[in-house]
Amino acid sequence: MAITTLDGLLGSTEGVRGKRVFVRADLNVPLREGQISDDSRIRASVPTLRRLREAGARLIVSSHLGRPKGERVPELSLAIVAPALAEALGAEVSFSQQCVGPEAAAAVDALEDGGVLLLENLRYHKEETKNDPAFAKALASLADIFVNDAFGTAHRAHASTAGIAAFVPRKAAGDLLRSELEHLNKVLHPQRPLLCFLGGAKVSDKLVALEALAPHTDVLCVGGGMAYTFLKAKGVAIGSSLLEEDRIEDARKVMAASEEAGNRLLLPSDHVAAQEFSEAGPTQVFEGEIGEGWMGLDIGPATAATYAEEARKASTIFWNGPMGVFEMQTFAAGTEAVAKGLAESEAFSVVGGGDSLAAVNKLGFAKEVSHLSTGGGASLEYIQGIELPGVKALES
Ligand code: ADP
Ligand code: MG
Repeated sequence: MAITTLDGLLGSTEGVRGKRVFVRADLNVPLREGQISDDSRIRASVPTLRRLREAGARLIVSSHLGRPKGERVPELSLAIVAPALAEALGAEVSFSQQCVGPEAAAAVDALEDGGVLLLENLRYHKEETKNDPAFAKALASLADIFVNDAFGTAHRAHASTAGIAAFVPRKAAGDLLRSELEHLNKVLHPQRPLLCFLGGAKVSDKLVALEALAPHTDVLCVGGGMAYTFLKAKGVAIGSSLLEEDRIEDARKVMAASEEAGNRLLLPSDHVAAQEFSEAGPTQVFEGEIGEGWMGLDIGPATAATYAEEARKASTIFWNGPMGVFEMQTFAAGTEAVAKGLAESEAFSVVGGGDSLAAVNKLGFAKEVSHLSTGGGASLEYIQGIELPGVKALES
């Protein structure tokens, strides 16, 4: 079904000048010791805001920050983001300590054409994640137009990403959201062979996705902490490596689904292991079985070479989750080898996931990737063919 883009909105006869535009952005920046440690998400939100501002819209910008679970947690106030957003946007940004109610409405009334207001953390209200209709309506009452640009939260049906759309007469997708969907469509309908690298530590979250992806992924290379639940399912000794015991059956299902479709699923054949989750102690490379008391913290050199070679042969690559504990130099080689293989490949490539992006940035391969996705969970759901609630709500 048709979704209005920002171009469509700005080009429409009614236009946006003087209109109150509620923009759901993803300003959920990582914080360290009370400071913004990475402003990528702020910068990624700027193009849409800038275009709307230049067209004379009155901008009401909203986001969540962290997981305050319905409480006013002071450390998770979006107030810290207002000056950073102002700087990135090159414009003044006012801040409202309330995201709904009379104080928010007064702040909106004070906006001039091209003015920008940032609302307080939406998740200070538990109604946000519950997609409470009254709360959605209260948010909607602030605005004439709803623009969703928060791709990273588009897989959640929340009041500000989904519910609000029913109460606002005009709605559109922001440029960031549109660009994410365009790039991810090339993974959803890939040029084959399609290769997926799945790693990281969120085993249970990702196994569900893997089950859906396995049948239509030509080659699935599993690494990182994910791999050990699979190896355990095959009866391989994994020492004290990361394991989600209650997911072993799911891992079996993923392997069966892949095999049934005639696809290949690759698991690490060797491992870099340590006795503790630290790079201080001794490390050892294990081929096949991992010794008692040792934990695999990176794919081994033979696996890294195999995976990198797969990357060179693929036409489309999707990567979510590092191949090892790349934050520690000793266990970064596997992730680096795969990143290098991806960089050398002609394939159209997408990397998604907070830590995966951090890894390719840290290792210096970001420029070699066709598309860096701002949403890990959202991109993983989208490429399975799941309709994202934040996108569906924009359909007219
Ligand atoms: P993303 O944020 O890209 O979706 P995850 O959050 O699932 O990725 O996982 C990232 C984390 O996985 C990293 O912090 C990394 O240190 C960790 N990790 C990778 N390999 C292993 C492993 N073998 N054992 C334990 N943790 C691992
Ligand atoms: Mg992560």
